[in-house]
Amino acid sequence: MSTVVLTGIGLLATQTLECGDLTDAAVIVEGSRIAWIGPAATAPDADEKVDLEGRCVIPGFVDSHAHLVFAGDRSAEFAARMSGVPYSAGGIQTTVSATRAAADEVLAARVTALTAEMQASGITTYEIKSGYGLTVRDELRSLQIAAQFTTETTFLGAHVVAPEFEADPAAYVDLVCGDMLTTCAPYARWIDVFCEQGAFDVDAARAILLAGTRAGLGARVHANQLRPGPGVQLACEIGAASADHCTHVSPADVDALAASDTVATLLPGAEFSTRADYPDARQLLDAGVTVALATDCNPGSSYTTSMPFCITLAVREMGMTPAEALTAATLGGATALQRKDIGCIAVGMRADLAVLDAPSPVHLAYRPGVGLISAVWKDGQRVR
Ligand SMILES: [Zn+2]
Repeated sequence: MSTVVLTGIGLLATQTLECGDLTDAAVIVEGSRIAWIGPAATAPDADEKVDLEGRCVIPGFVDSHAHLVFAGDRSAEFAARMSGVPYSAGGIQTTVSATRAAADEVLAARVTALTAEMQASGITTYEIKSGYGLTVRDELRSLQIAAQFTTETTFLGAHVVAPEFEADPAAYVDLVCGDMLTTCAPYARWIDVFCEQGAFDVDAARAILLAGTRAGLGARVHANQLRPGPGVQLACEIGAASADHCTHVSPADVDALAASDTVATLLPGAEFSTRADYPDARQLLDAGVTVALATDCNPGSSYTTSMPFCITLAVREMGMTPAEALTAATLGGATALQRKDIGCIAVGMRADLAVLDAPSPVHLAYRPGVGLISAVWKDGQRVR
């Protein structure tokens, strides 16, 4: 297996407690994995050498929440919202119509473009949800397309009730738990539900998630985004990997998260794009909750593929330190996906690395909106 030494690393942010940050460091990549880290002066020889000239290296970002399989454009809705129209879950139907009408090639081309943007922002692992098909056929093809891009695929047939079932939402829940799940499960690792007024109530959400876990899928929940609600408690009750959004949480919700293995995944792009109040990350971190940051890339409420932008918001608006935000965007995302092979820089981990055109990761928030990602390695291959 060929080896590459990345040397001249001004600061290596390992995101591991054992190593912490290393200065004047080197990393040796062997095949797809990290084989050695330490002081550049003592680095062993390798087949190839890349001098990073004092730049900072961080783990590739792990984006644990994204909705990339869709068609259509909702910029007019964004413009209206910025003029004062409130956001509601119902806008999802606009994208459902466009997605159903789009050919597979059109949907896949959009995913190709968005994942390229993600990589340019330093994201090396991303989750992709279905949820804009809402028929057996369209959820299936959404997941088949998603599976071409990532192993972290999520069945979100329970995004909203399909328009055909408006008069009988219980029948849609039965479809999601029945034929739709059976058809989609082979292409999904996870199942997710939008537990929210206007989407699915707690009983429907529980039934759908438990049907998914019986089919071998891991659970994730869109919880407490638009108002207080039962989603966070449900996520903790069923042992979901992640409760996502957590924008409106009670002290009891915070306690439940702290006492569980469920990660609180915060999605500040959504609050930004809907002009809503941000989640209180400080409260969650101080209570001992594991926090992840993700883009929530979707055409309705958070059309960004930039993890640095999310880090900027987390630091400026949500009470996170730059170091906490970096951890949430790397190790936190990996924990939210229950992955032990990504999210930090240590021997044996996947060689997923982002190089910053900056001396420290603080610059991700300190220089908002500036593209600082100068190189990216994914599974040991330079991809940017
Ligand atoms: Zn979402």
